[in-house]
Amino acid sequence: MFFIRRETLSNQISIAASASREHLLNSHAYQIIVAKFGGTSVADFTAMSRCADIVLADPNIRLIVVSASSGVTNMLVEMTKQSEAAARLNAYAGVERITYAVLQQLQQQALVGAAIEQLLLELKTLVDLNRSYSDIEKDLVQSFGERLSSVLFAQVLAERGAPVSSFDVRRVMRTDSRFGKGEPQIDTIAALTAQYLQPLLNQQLIVTQGFIGADSQGQTTTLGRGGSDYSAAILGEAVGAKVVQIWTDVVGIFTTDPRLTDQARCIPEISFDEAAEMATFGAKVLHPATLIPAMRQNIPVFVGSSREPNAGGTWISKQVDTKPSYRAIALRKAQTLITVKSPAMLHAAGFLARVFDILSRHQISVDLVTTSEISVALTLDDAPGSAFTQSIEPALAELKAFSEVTVEQNLSLIAVIGNHLHSTRGVTGSLFQALEKINMRLICHGASRHNLCFLVQDGEAAGVVKELHQALF
Ligand code: ADP
Ligand code: ASP
Ligand code: MG
Repeated sequence: MFFIRRETLSNQISIAASASREHLLNSHAYQIIVAKFGGTSVADFTAMSRCADIVLADPNIRLIVVSASSGVTNMLVEMTKQSEAAARLNAYAGVERITYAVLQQLQQQALVGAAIEQLLLELKTLVDLNRSYSDIEKDLVQSFGERLSSVLFAQVLAERGAPVSSFDVRRVMRTDSRFGKGEPQIDTIAALTAQYLQPLLNQQLIVTQGFIGADSQGQTTTLGRGGSDYSAAILGEAVGAKVVQIWTDVVGIFTTDPRLTDQARCIPEISFDEAAEMATFGAKVLHPATLIPAMRQNIPVFVGSSREPNAGGTWISKQVDTKPSYRAIALRKAQTLITVKSPAMLHAAGFLARVFDILSRHQISVDLVTTSEISVALTLDDAPGSAFTQSIEPALAELKAFSEVTVEQNLSLIAVIGNHLHSTRGVTGSLFQALEKINMRLICHGASRHNLCFLVQDGEAAGVVKELHQALF
């Protein structure tokens, strides 16, 4: 027998469950595993139930980080983009529909009904704005996806007999005030976690939100799209987790995005360095920053499928048994290539410094660079919401004051990831052979032993990855 109590104010659901499990949680024989469930994993009640099976099967899983249900963040982003009230309402209705579909399948809807209604009401008031959204409001709107899914998932676990609370991660996930791309403040997060979160973990399972945080003024921020993986790793670092699990819709990290070729296969183990390169160069399965906290604290990360939790997965860790030359191929679309040329700089010093000074003042982050004496070509990530769209124009104007600037868009960055690529015989030979008919717009090789990168037209990219995968694997 167990009873359920709701604490409306803190949005918490608590349930005193079977004595045995409580005993397990209170004994300190267990080391914390942080489990993160992505959007498709918490897409609906059935998917959430599968995640509950995973959590309940392992008493070490104590901290659970959830994404918004699949599609919800896109709807919330859409809501803030629309100028027409009807279109905003339409986006809101989508979120409401997904939320109610889960709520209606709960056995004890009343226990979370009020909390869910309250969140939806708050969101609805943000639909009725008669002006465009500020950056602060955009982040606030986007935060509702994770705030809703975490309350629902906590209740799914509660109904399975787990002692569980949902926890507002904004109490601990302190970021700076860069809305849309909040930078986590690691030391403050550690201190706040020790104070507010760690004590709770000794008593119950905690379900919290990925992706969102709050600045020092208490304003809601987000870590950037796909940021829940990063949240899980940051929280894993803060609580001293022994493992961070990323549960998603694929059975691990593949040799390339399995949507690009059916020949892609799961990589059982991969080093932090290689996986970090994959994430940086577009393997969407992990947010690019995810491995930074894991590497800092040497916390192994497991990636698996919440649909097939027993089908294996990928272990990412510092030491791996195998270090193949070719590990994977990553693809990042919508890249921009900027070429800056200044004949006046022939034999003059300081050209590159001048170019990079301008880019850095405009907070533009550069990925690939190739240079000659009087010109430099560099690539920028042109993802929506990236620094590119906001600050490129003023930066270009400054560059044009002393050089010719050309901008090429719709390019894809393809990265071959592996080990000792800079010193392995035949690497570029195999690549050029595989891609003899392709116009490679730019190539970077030698700076990293873990990657070799090049640019092709967006339209050709998927085919190139497929061809290259066939040749290298
Ligand atoms: P979640 O919502 O669980 O965070 P994402 O959609 O963000 O899931 O990431 C999982 C997706 O990443 C997969 O469905 C797959 O298409 C894509 N992906 C891209 N590259 C890879 C790769 N190398 N290995 C596995 N998945 C990849
Ligand atoms: N819900 C957020 C997004 O869709 C964060 C995440 O899923 O990781 O981008
Ligand atoms: Mg993701």
